[in-house]
Parts: sequence; structure tokens; C-alpha cells
Amino acid sequence: MTCTSLIWFRKDLRIEDNEALFNACKSDIVIPLFIFDKTLIEYSDIGEASHWWLEKSLEELNKQLDNKLNILSGNSYEILLSLAKKYNLNRVYWNRCYEADRIELDTKIKKNLNSKDIVTKSYNSSLLWEPWTISNKTGGFYKVFTPYFKNGCMLASSPRKPQSLKIKKNFKKIDVEDYSYSFKYFKTNKSISWSKKFSDFWKPGEKSAKLALKTFLNTEASGNYSEGRNLPAKNYVSRLSPHLHWGEISPFTVWYEAKKNMTGENKTTYLSELGWREFSYYLMYHFPNINKDNLKKNFDQFPWINDERLLSKWKKGVTGYPIVDAGMRELWDTGYMHNRSRMITSSFLVKNLLTHWKYGERWFHDCLLDADLASNSASWQWVAGTGTDAAPFFRIFNPITQSQKFDTDAEYIKKYVPELKHLPKKMIFSPWRFSKNELAAYNLELGKDYPFPIIDYEYSRKRALNAFKSFSNRNV
Ligand code: FAD
Repeated sequence: MTCTSLIWFRKDLRIEDNEALFNACKSDIVIPLFIFDKTLIEYSDIGEASHWWLEKSLEELNKQLDNKLNILSGNSYEILLSLAKKYNLNRVYWNRCYEADRIELDTKIKKNLNSKDIVTKSYNSSLLWEPWTISNKTGGFYKVFTPYFKNGCMLASSPRKPQSLKIKKNFKKIDVEDYSYSFKYFKTNKSISWSKKFSDFWKPGEKSAKLALKTFLNTEASGNYSEGRNLPAKNYVSRLSPHLHWGEISPFTVWYEAKKNMTGENKTTYLSELGWREFSYYLMYHFPNINKDNLKKNFDQFPWINDERLLSKWKKGVTGYPIVDAGMRELWDTGYMHNRSRMITSSFLVKNLLTHWKYGERWFHDCLLDADLASNSASWQWVAGTGTDAAPFFRIFNPITQSQKFDTDAEYIKKYVPELKHLPKKMIFSPWRFSKNELAAYNLELGKDYPFPIIDYEYSRKRALNAFKSFSNRNV
């Protein structure tokens, strides 16, 4: 009897080390499917940058699947049930996702297909340690990263080894005209002019994910990682985040290749950064509303100011603080922002401008190519001091000293804020501290060529600390 299987791609847009795909391919006929399901937060709320990435990534996957990838849009539950009937499916395979609405939907789909004698199998393709496998001594869950990673993950069983699984390609293209959406309608039009430039910096897909890892491991980047990862002007990071987000490369491959090829502090730091990704998913699993609610509930009473005008200047990268503006413009220009700049710009928004982290999270979500519900929300809550393991609210990044320390030669500032590029080092980090005449010597006029600071740093710092103090006194 012919066995027909369906492989349902989600955040595993790759061929290698993909257990669900491998097992599906043991069948005689395999229907590869991707569903753009707007009933799920992942697609209803997809950012513009992510939409660009997803479209390109699916194009690449389609090529790898001999142009047989079926892309549909609609309700996953209804689509799968309808395909199961129409194509007499025997088996349905997928790799697991961890967002609450996904878990609920997967459970419902599994139950229904099983009741029709269709076998369903799910696998882990995207986390080194699935959230429910790590618990603390009392059987509860960790809320702080270091014990989670050191005592939980590192003492638990090692992540599984990546598998080199050869697949048989028995793929079948189905009649997608029966459904509301097909590949040709998936293309995004509205953001073309903005997103077009992403292809100058990024190439989605498994091939380029593998190349990014190889480049990182074979160049000075990995040899300088532990210190170099703090320098936004340098290319000492792996830039794997969007590839990992869409599962174009398996975290098992990244983990074991890093272990094999890196040494000392560089290796330890890199593995622990991968650990932060795991921790974000762990938190999201235990706090499904992590993208909406403060994890520290008392922050619900915090006196945010939420000034729309200042928020808009922050988004545009015209705050008058060169390092903040460089970060925000890097994001807009390339769909990526270096981690150091993410920390500086987010701290500035939340603490100096007293804007709720949610507004920043939304903007990052829309503009980042690696926008990830878990990592983005967990990181914003970390910076804002509202997370379970968060930098305390009273730790406020000073954008001037941060840039002097981590962008010593102002290379990053000069690249993304070119109007300041002629200023000497002593002026470029805080141009407003110099007189009109001193700036004029470098053809710069504040208020015309580059803005005055939108807020006085010392004043905003004290204001944030006072707000925190009075809030803490009220919320003990
Ligand atoms: P590398 O330094 O090469 O690290 C390797 C991998 O480890 C990354 O690809 C990523 O998967 C993981 N990683 C590293 N740092 C972190 C971290 N702090 N938290 C979680 N995972 C981490 N990362 C996202 O993937 N998506 C997001 O939406 C996101 N939003 C962020 C928002 C803020 C405010 C901040 C402060 C950080 C955010 N990060 C996010 C984390 C981090 O900035 C990026 O993962 C990193 O900059 C990606 O670049 P890379 O791949 O070169 O990282």
C-alpha cells in the first residue's frame, strides 16, 4: 500500500538535520507544506522585515525541494484536515514550536488527525533543551539565567548531535488553486522600497546560513568573540540570528561546530549566548504573555511618560546622541542592529525617555530581520528591569561613555551618522558640548545638520532614578 506523508514546515526551513523531514521522507509520497496562518500571532503580527526574510527563505527552500513546496494561506487546522481527506494522508510530520497559540493548535490538530487514524509525529529541531526538560532542584522553573544555564542546562543531558540524514526526494506538488493562497500571492509589495536594500547585506536560506557559520568560525571573528562581540563597528559576531530564527540552520549544528572550532573564553561566551536564546524560549514557555505583560507585576504601576514625539525621534535615529542614532539607523538601513547598540538604544528609550518597553519592542519587531517573539520580548524586559532576570532599573547606560568605550574610534558612528564624520574624536561622542564656532570649523551646525539632544542626559537620568525611587517606595 502506498504511504503518503505530509511534512509541515514551520520554523525549520532547512533540509539538513531536520528530523521531521527525514522521517516524512521514508514514505512513498511526501507533500511538503508551509502555511501562512493569520490566526497565529507569528503571522498575524509578522514584522515587515521578517516578511521579507520569510518570503526569500521559502524561495530557497522551494528550490531545495525540487520546486515542490506548497505554500498555502489560511487556518492550519482547516487546511490540514482538508488535505488529509483529499490526499488520503497516512502520516503528518512537524517540528515543534513553543509559542502558546502554536502549542494549543498543534494539540488540537494532533487529536483530530489521530482520531482519523492518521499518524502524527513531532520532533525538536530548534532548541538545545526543550523548556520542560530543565527544572530546578524543587521541580520548579528557573527565573535567573546563570543557574538556569550552569546548573540546569549544562548539567542536564547534552544536546543531541546533529544528524547527517540523507533524504529521498519523493515530493508532490498539490493543487493549491483549491486554497485561498499560493506562492505567487505570498510576495510582499508594500515594503519593497524599504526592504529592497536588505539583499545588500543578507541572503536568507540554508546555504547562506551554513556559509555564515563557516565564515564566523574560520575568520578572526570567532577568535575575538568574547571581547569583540561588544564592538559594534567590528564584525566579530556570527550574524546567525535570523537564520536561527527561521530554523535555516540547526542550533545543534551551531552548538557542536562552535564547541569543536572555538577555544577558551571565546567558546564559553559564544555557547552562553546560545544559552540566552534558549533561556528566552524557556521564559516564553513559562510566561506565554512575555510579549505583553511585565514579568515583574509591580511595574504595571510604573509612571511611564510615553511621549510620542520623542518616540518618533528615537525611531528615526535623530535623538542627538550619536551612538543611539547610529544604532537606530543601522536597524533601519540593514534590518539588524548590533547587540551592544540594542542595549544602548533600548536603555535610552526606556530609562532616559521613560517610555514603556512595549513601544520599543514593537518597533524592533517590525524592523529586525531576526525579530523573535521570545528573544525580543525577553531582551526588552531584561533591559527595562521588568524581567525575571533583568538588569536593575537603576542601571542606566550612559550613551556617551558607552560609545567612548565600545566605539573608541567612532567608526560605527561615522558609518551610520555620516553628518558627523568630520568631527574629531574628542567632539564626536557629544557634539553639543562644543561651541557653535568649534563645530563650524568642521562644517557642522547643531539644529541644522544634526539635532541637539532631545533630552539632557543628566536630567533624564536623575528623573528616571527618582521615578524608580518613588515607584519602589509605593510598591514595597
Ligand atoms: P552572536 O553574538 O553571534 O550570538 C549567536 C547567537 O546567540 C545569536 O544569533 C542569537 O541566536 C543568540 N543570542 C545572542 N545574544 C542573545 C541574547 N541576548 N538573547 C537571545 N539570544 C541571543 N535576538 C534575536 O534573535 N531576536 C530578537 O528579536 C532580539 N531582540 C533583541 C532586543 C533587544 C532590546 C536586545 C538587547 C537584544 C535582542 N536580541 C534579539 C539578542 C541579540 O541582540 C541578538 O541575538 C544578536 O545581536 C544577534 O546577532 P548575532 O547572530 O551576530 O549574535
